[in-house]
Amino acid sequence: MSEIKDRIQKLRDLLNKYNYQYFVLDDASVPDYEYDMLLKELKELEQDYPQYYDINSPTNRVGGYVSSGFEKVVHQVSMLSLGNSYNKEDILAFHNRIKNEVGSVEYVVELKIDGLAMSLIYENGRFVKAITRGDGVTGEDVTSNVRTIRSIPLEIEYPGRLDVRGEIYMPKDVFEKINKERKENGEALFANPRNGAAGSIRQLDSAVAAKRGLQGYWYHLPEALEIGIDSHENALKFLEKQGFKVNPLRKVCQDIDEVWSFISEISEKRNDLPYEIDGMVIKTNDLKTQVDLGYTAKYPKWAIAYKFPAQQVVTKVLDIFCTVGRTGKVTPNARFKPVSVAQTTVEYATLHNADFIKEKDIRIGDEVIIHKAGDIIPEVVKVVLDRREEGLKPFKFPENCPVCGETIHRYLDGADYYCQNIDCPAVIVTSITHFGSRDAMNIEGLGEKTVETFHKEGLLNNVEDIFLLKDYKDRITKIDKMGEKSFHNLVDAIENSKKNNLDKLIFGLGIKHIGAKAALTLAKHFTNMDNLMKATMEELTSINEIGEVMADSVISFFQDENNVDLINNLKQYGVNMNYISSETYTSIFTDKTVVLTGTLTNLTRNQATEYLNKLQAKVTNSVSKSTDYLIYGADAGSKYDKAVQLNVKMLTEQDLLDELIKVGLCQ
Ligand code: NAD
Repeated sequence: MSEIKDRIQKLRDLLNKYNYQYFVLDDASVPDYEYDMLLKELKELEQDYPQYYDINSPTNRVGGYVSSGFEKVVHQVSMLSLGNSYNKEDILAFHNRIKNEVGSVEYVVELKIDGLAMSLIYENGRFVKAITRGDGVTGEDVTSNVRTIRSIPLEIEYPGRLDVRGEIYMPKDVFEKINKERKENGEALFANPRNGAAGSIRQLDSAVAAKRGLQGYWYHLPEALEIGIDSHENALKFLEKQGFKVNPLRKVCQDIDEVWSFISEISEKRNDLPYEIDGMVIKTNDLKTQVDLGYTAKYPKWAIAYKFPAQQVVTKVLDIFCTVGRTGKVTPNARFKPVSVAQTTVEYATLHNADFIKEKDIRIGDEVIIHKAGDIIPEVVKVVLDRREEGLKPFKFPENCPVCGETIHRYLDGADYYCQNIDCPAVIVTSITHFGSRDAMNIEGLGEKTVETFHKEGLLNNVEDIFLLKDYKDRITKIDKMGEKSFHNLVDAIENSKKNNLDKLIFGLGIKHIGAKAALTLAKHFTNMDNLMKATMEELTSINEIGEVMADSVISFFQDENNVDLINNLKQYGVNMNYISSETYTSIFTDKTVVLTGTLTNLTRNQATEYLNKLQAKVTNSVSKSTDYLIYGADAGSKYDKAVQLNVKMLTEQDLLDELIKVGLCQ
């Protein structure tokens, strides 16, 4: 029994501490979901063990505090919080409770704006006071700050006393802009738009608050019944008429399926909204029903919040390990106890570099808050410091490459360490894998595991070795899981990759700072590899999207003789070095039928065909009366003879090249 009592006390202490950090310091130390689950546990224990009831328990208190600095005001009608739900079953349980009590019911579903609850008081049609929620009973008078929010009407038509409730929030774009400015000025950043709004409203200088671009949505009229309004939806319409900003994204729903489908619809577009929402709010529409249902100490019984799946969660760092990329960059990564974040399981996250680990003081064994940056990439937000076990040591960044053991090096101007050993297997394997990857040469079957195996077998030591794999059938087919079929598929994929456009090759080379988009820009501009290799700083920087850092990187890449040798070898293996535009050009070949014969010297048959297609020619295999041109190379045979017989116009490969130069397809 005393175990239960201790747990209850521990939960109360923890929740009080988290409440203070969240509401007073605006600096939460754990994610909301974590807080909500602890509160739920406490609530259940208090229900099961009523002998430990305490009026001051956090389960009986509306979260906030009243801070000094502003005048205190008692709310005429308390400002409560909302009960939470996390799935359709929770909402159904809420619905069933209500149905049992009042029979049939209609709901209004609204967006739960993640801001700061506010009560606006109007008297004789004039705005007189703005009061924060505070502890629900007493709030702070923040009138002068709220007055600066331009969308709030200072005068309204309704002549009586009116208490209008809603949420003050900071739009996402304003939040980003302000944080950017704060970063430039070396000021502490707002953790999220809610903190931004709360911090701005608590400013003692309203001139500062005025510059914070705050907005408000108004969603509650506690005394609506008294002024003759019968439903929540009509109260919202009344507010709209009085000039308040009411969120148009709301829906009157007849049943829970309709409620759920609106929730799903909004969940999908949530990230595109210009403001943060952390859930939805479901309210009974009929106001008399609201009165019948009443309140608990903390929540109205006629409404419930649905919280979106957790975007931030706590998990444990099981390990920190480093990997080495194709540039030799040594990147630290965390391995976590697997945890679900925004509906996917997360087990790993990059820790970027030594500075990131040091700044956040991330240690193996720590509990950390993680989230998904841009809703995609898992990232560590912060360590939950007060849960750190004793004896955890700061992470010591390795001094040697974790793969080859050579000393690693940090450049003066950067945060990253590099392994400079050009024979480092990690560098070799990742650069070959990158060359074959989808956005580069797209060689199916040449994934990292295969490259690693081939490297260990001595078959792949650099990119050009890829094109020699076809000669090692015996050795390759003996490798586990590499049957004859896989071998042939791989060789075909490698052969096909030779025809890739130039941008794929440039990207595949892995030139520092040159991503797929810059590679395409370079390919279009220089049209072939030789031109790119000769490019000067001026030429490169004259291209719009190419800055100095990129240009410098291209030049130093081609100054390295190893890279020049690589290109020459790739040329020999028949890898395409030209940019073939997908645009079409008007030429002497437009709408003409063309046949190719003999051996061409500058172009492969495929390239010549692709070029002719761009010149809008129809390329066919056999000579007939409808053939307009025959382009012939060395050792031309029967097609040449037939074309002479039929009096078809004869052109050489050089004639084709001249035409390509004329239309600007070649230089
Ligand atoms: P809440 O934010 O869960 O919900 C109630 C509030 O929602 C209302 O007071 C109102 O301000 C707001 N709201 C937004 N749109 C609304 C709408 N359309 N209709 C009605 N209300 C709307 O509750 P709370 O009491 O403000 O805060 C408690 C929550 O704060 C917890 O659920 C928890 O997630 C978080 N919290 C976190 C920590 C932490 O350490 N991470 C600590 C304390 C509280």
